[in-house]
Amino acid sequence: MNTSNLVIALTKGRILEETLPLFEQADIVPTEDIATSRKLIFDTNHTNIKLLVMRGSDVPTYVEFGSADMGVAGKDLLLEYGSEGFYEPLDLKIAACRLMTAEPVNASPVADRLRVATKFTNIAKKYFAERGIQIELIKLNGALELAPSLGLADSIVDIVDTGNTLKANGLEPRELIANISSRVIVNKASMKIKNAVIREILCKLRTAVDSA
Ligand code: AMP
Repeated sequence: MNTSNLVIALTKGRILEETLPLFEQADIVPTEDIATSRKLIFDTNHTNIKLLVMRGSDVPTYVEFGSADMGVAGKDLLLEYGSEGFYEPLDLKIAACRLMTAEPVNASPVADRLRVATKFTNIAKKYFAERGIQIELIKLNGALELAPSLGLADSIVDIVDTGNTLKANGLEPRELIANISSRVIVNKASMKIKNAVIREILCKLRTAVDSA
């Protein structure tokens, strides 16, 4: 592999569990077990490649500003971040889910301004504005599914996988906003300056994705 130093920011949690096997197939392996370590930066089997492990919502920031050359983050967080400050060359096709609106089962249409609870405020604003629907946005960081039954919101915008969480809280999925999976993003300057090493990694990751 080329000798340019390269920093890759990975999303911790369930995405990391699915990312590491793909990276291993692309011959990038951390030298210690990320899952059991409290460290945030890891050496790999290549002296020039380091891995950072962080919250997915911070990955686009690290990559846009060049503190990381590449990153892996969910498309939901990239849409919410809303910047064109990096390239998105590869869909890893992992952690697949849907970003949807959801409402109480059999809810009747809301006459007034729709109250929408979500942590994806930018996405929700854009989605409803494009449809000419006036909303009142309620920013929540978790336990969104409680908001409708407690009278805080009429609708939520959230990640849906099996739909079990919605169902358990008396909600049902309504509109699909976007299909979500984890993507590789690349800093624009790094793509030029470290093109050879980045292209080699992307090529190997693409092969790993295609053979998954
Ligand atoms: P489910 O009950 O299977 O529909 O899962 C819904 C919950 O799991 C959501 O509230 C999300 O917080 C979380 N979740 C499921 N899949 C993902 C994913 N790929 N990325 C992030 N969060 C997810």
